[in-house]
Amino acid sequence: MNGMTNEPTGNLTSAGGSHYPWHSPTWQQIVNQQRRGRLAHAYLFTGLPDTGRHQFVISVAHYVLCEADKSAHNEACGQCRQCLLFAKGYHPDVLQVQPEDGSRAIKIDQVRQIADHVQQTSNQASATKVIIIQPAEALGTAAANSLLKSLEEPPGKALFLLIADSGDRLLATIRSRCQNVSLPSPSFSDTQAWLATMSAADSDTLASAAALAPQQPFAALRMLEEGVPAWREILTEKLTSLRQGE
Ligand SMILES: [Zn+2]
Repeated sequence: MNGMTNEPTGNLTSAGGSHYPWHSPTWQQIVNQQRRGRLAHAYLFTGLPDTGRHQFVISVAHYVLCEADKSAHNEACGQCRQCLLFAKGYHPDVLQVQPEDGSRAIKIDQVRQIADHVQQTSNQASATKVIIIQPAEALGTAAANSLLKSLEEPPGKALFLLIADSGDRLLATIRSRCQNVSLPSPSFSDTQAWLATMSAADSDTLASAAALAPQQPFAALRMLEEGVPAWREILTEKLTSLRQGE
């Protein structure tokens, strides 16, 4: 499996700060908060994997940092200096914290780097520093407690964006310091419609892939692009969860 169509988690390219159609209501909620100057300083976004969660969060970071007049823009402008940085896939004011190669956990040293990041001089006046943490479940107790300090007393102007499957496996104190936002999953027809824009497969094949992963469009797309190994992976996951009585 080459992982080419895995839900992207690495670079910052956010397709002009746009988002997937099934995330539109949540997107509008964030836009409204930003316009009213009511953005929280920390968010916990929860939702199924393979639904574009990371893209959504990158788009939030992009929109917040975009220099355009937000009252005239529902999405990042795509023209300003900040947008040009996002288009290149790197922005100095965004720190992504995720398990390093070969590890399943986010280490305490990685969390300690957050304070350095927030205190670094920004490339724009009075800019917000954005910290994206995914998956938040990968924070061990020591790392989570260290993060808690930053959440309680941010070392500067910071916006924390945490991504998790659900809040259940996080420290209650982390959850309570974030605004909890549940990211909607696409409906079966959303998934089918999106797949049709992404794949040249015939309609029967599209429908079969959507039926096997009705709420996880990136998993369905992997099945279409990678063939048998990806189908086997999805079916094995389904059988395992059936056996576990989920
Ligand atoms: Zn812009």
